[in-house]
Amino acid sequence: MTACNSLSRRRFLTLAAAVAAVPVALHGGDAQAADLPLVTADDPTAKGVGYVADAATAKSPAFKAGSACAKCALYSGAAGAASGPCGIFPGKAVSAKGWCTAFAPKG
Ligand code: SF4
Repeated sequence: MTACNSLSRRRFLTLAAAVAAVPVALHGGDAQAADLPLVTADDPTAKGVGYVADAATAKSPAFKAGSACAKCALYSGAAGAASGPCGIFPGKAVSAKGWCTAFAPKG
């Protein structure tokens, strides 16, 4: 398996898990979103998708300037909030300024 295929497979699995988790994340509502613990760097899922709390520090070649959790389709934080739920981190919040390799621009 090539590195490219491995990355594509990992990204597919990550996105599949995210899609499955979105209803759970959205069900929580904004009141609960404020109470969610922030994802930490040692979180296994965060490591798997290369999550960083500040997109400016992203080292992945997949990163595109201007990308951030607040602009991601999997992010459900309130407009202007510093953090909010993400579909791939059920029960946790990500930084609005964060980023990971599963980034999918809002449509
Ligand atoms: S870019 Fe941010 S909101 Fe989008 S999937 Fe990654 S951690 Fe979640």
